[in-house]
Amino acid sequence: MLSFYPGPSKVYPEVLGFIQEAFDEGMVSINHRSPRFEKLLKATLDSLHEQWNIPTDYTIYFISSATEAWEIVSQSLVEKKSMHLYNGAFGKKWAHYARQIHPESISHEFDLQASLHDISTGLDLSDTDTLCLVQSETSNGSGQQIKRSDYAIDPSCLIAVDATSSMGGILLPWLEADVWLASVQKCMGIPAGLGLLICSPKALARAEKLQKRAHYNDILLMEENRKLFQTHYTPNVLSIFVLHKLTQFLPNLTQIHAQTLEKAKMLEDFWISQTGFELKFLIDNPALRLPTVLALQGNPADIQRIKSKCFISQIELGNGYGTWKENTVRIANFPSHTPADLEQLFNSLSHGL
Ligand SMILES: *Cc1c(COP(=O)(O)O)cnc(C)c1O
Repeated sequence: MLSFYPGPSKVYPEVLGFIQEAFDEGMVSINHRSPRFEKLLKATLDSLHEQWNIPTDYTIYFISSATEAWEIVSQSLVEKKSMHLYNGAFGKKWAHYARQIHPESISHEFDLQASLHDISTGLDLSDTDTLCLVQSETSNGSGQQIKRSDYAIDPSCLIAVDATSSMGGILLPWLEADVWLASVQKCMGIPAGLGLLICSPKALARAEKLQKRAHYNDILLMEENRKLFQTHYTPNVLSIFVLHKLTQFLPNLTQIHAQTLEKAKMLEDFWISQTGFELKFLIDNPALRLPTVLALQGNPADIQRIKSKCFISQIELGNGYGTWKENTVRIANFPSHTPADLEQLFNSLSHGL
């Protein structure tokens, strides 16, 4: 089965060998306070910094998922009030959970076809201490530019960004935000069960100021452990090992970024040129389409036909999400998806249209 589901999705075939290696080396049984683990964690953080061009003063933490990261942002960093700007299901959920922790937190839902840049003017952000944005709205395939200067915020305001279905697949403008969060089962191409939280020095300074140590995963506790190259709880060592192996094996993110855009173009060209289905991109403006998740809209019968056609060829596509369940199909374009995988998809769709 070849999965184009937008996460969990196709896992790099190399991962199987890395898992075998972890077994052979006894990595799967190591203690997370042992020198071997410390060495592994340090090497992994170093290679992520290097291969993804993450600023050296930004710190990386391993947690269990992107969802956990949403909660950490509210618990460790939000002073009183976060503001959530969203146009899809993931941003909405994040806003919902944030409000349970800080009841004063608010949100603003914007049009599916709008950009953050367009809607940022006219927002009253004067008393917002943490601005929460979604770079990759996986539910509808929209992708946003993240830029601090778009917002009339206090210089002390933090910007936290959900980049769950783009991190590892495209270059992200790290300096334009203070918190970046993601899970590994999207662009990182490994099995689910590990999340990443990346913090700027400004985010750490906020954590210091608030001194929250109430939760096992408060940033201060994670940072104390990270300094020792340890983690605050027993982590998914196997996935950290695999992620390390992969970042060593894969090229620099600059190169992956170029490949992602090339493949996104192949996918777009295919859908524009094919005539068998009446489909359009859910997101009209090409500049606002997420290169890593393509969402196509059509009548439910066509959508069903596309999915069945693929299913017969052992290819899985993503269902529509929430409001768009019946009339959209989502196709992941993650780094694990090769141009040959795309050809396989195109062939099975073109066959007998
Ligand atoms: C998948 C996804 C999440 C949730 O990831 P989990 O690993 O299930 O916590 C959050 N935000 C976005 C944008 C996603 O695509």
